[in-house]
Amino acid sequence: FSQTLISSPAIGSPFMDLEMDVLVVGAGPAGSTAARYAAAGGARTLLIEKRQEIGTPVRCGEALGRNWLEAVDLTPSSAFVAREIAASRVFSPDGTYLTVSGYAGAKGGYVVERDLFDRALAKEASRAGARIEIKTSALGLLREGDRVVGVVCEHLGETWDVRAPVVIAADGFESQLGRWAGMTSPLRTRDLVSCLQVTLAGVRGDAAYSDLHLGSEAPGGYAWVFWKAEDVANVGLGVPLSRLKDRAEVKRYLDAFIARRPGLARGEPIEEVAGGVTTSLPVERSAMAGLLLAGDAARLIDPLTGAGIQNALLSGRLAGEAAARAVREGDASGERLASYDRAWRSRLEEDLARHYLVKEGLQKLDDAAIDRVFHAIAEADLRPLTVPSVLDVLRARTPEVLRTFEGLGF
Ligand code: FAD
Repeated sequence: FSQTLISSPAIGSPFMDLEMDVLVVGAGPAGSTAARYAAAGGARTLLIEKRQEIGTPVRCGEALGRNWLEAVDLTPSSAFVAREIAASRVFSPDGTYLTVSGYAGAKGGYVVERDLFDRALAKEASRAGARIEIKTSALGLLREGDRVVGVVCEHLGETWDVRAPVVIAADGFESQLGRWAGMTSPLRTRDLVSCLQVTLAGVRGDAAYSDLHLGSEAPGGYAWVFWKAEDVANVGLGVPLSRLKDRAEVKRYLDAFIARRPGLARGEPIEEVAGGVTTSLPVERSAMAGLLLAGDAARLIDPLTGAGIQNALLSGRLAGEAAARAVREGDASGERLASYDRAWRSRLEEDLARHYLVKEGLQKLDDAAIDRVFHAIAEADLRPLTVPSVLDVLRARTPEVLRTFEGLGF
């Protein structure tokens, strides 16, 4: 591959004499992981991030399954782990709860300091040999025919055309690169969840669990309490845009959720974050000639749990490996890069599709129906709590509820 810089950057600019094979846009979990594996695979890799600090501002509940760190060879470290999650509780509206081990399907989990976590991932990318430029934005795609051949970059008010045979778009759920390439379509308002979270200090509660609350306290979504210390918790909720009159309504839901729980209401806010989460199906195509979409940009957030870090890490790794392979072979065609699309689909697509249908079914249930389901499962005292055993109970006790979950063959 030829690596050229089209325009002439000023002497001393970070783009002077730059040559690269892989350009990664966005230094979140997907981008830093993609850059790390692309560089480790021998590709000259540049990671650009528009913000001036990787990892901030944090827009995250900060909970993560343990096995996902293993998937990207990352050792859990006190440098970014705030607290371990041994088990999760899922609450129905009347306070009945079920306890499941771990977090979001993983055996164990962590609440991380997300800013430090993202920086740890960027350091891994740097250790593997990737070059990182902050305060640098992608403004547009460079194309030759139907192939992406680079990105127009902006740094401190100056723009350059940076060419690379493989570009990885890891620019988050509102991915501009995906849109510019025509690979993402507009989201339905029911598939876009507006989230608000406050970190509260001086709170009291059962800090051994991560808690999820279903029902009309967060209609169509859920509320969460993730503990970062014995007396500090991330308390947040998400509601689909289709259920909101205006965005300020999320704040009213969160205030009411906290006010109803004295252990949380006594806390003082130390941080507030707002952001969006997609609960759609993944993009139909995540690879074309010269371009891969990874993480939220490929809409890989789990539509049921809203957890996105894990799939960002895995898809980032797969994208970085596929990019390095394409560079080594001198083939960044759509056909060659489609191996990336197939790789993440074989690992994730079935679960994402099933979780999407469960999410759609849950959105149709009112509080009374959710309570009935939880009562039936709690009374059956299933140990262990497995999907087949839960389904057996629901078939016998609440068949009318199961019928709401269309397409799942319950
Ligand atoms: P991001 O982390 O969004 O990173 C994208 C990066 O690209 C950003 O740094 C951005 O600045 C940069 N960028 C964008 N455009 C450009 C451009 N043009 N040029 C250069 N850089 C650009 N997931 C979990 O697993 N657990 C949770 O507890 C959890 N809680 C959440 C709570 C909230 C309130 C929200 C909003 C989300 C939550 N998520 C959670 C989802 C999770 O944060 C995302 O799924 C995850 O960050 C996706 O990683 P990513 O690398 O794909 O994208």
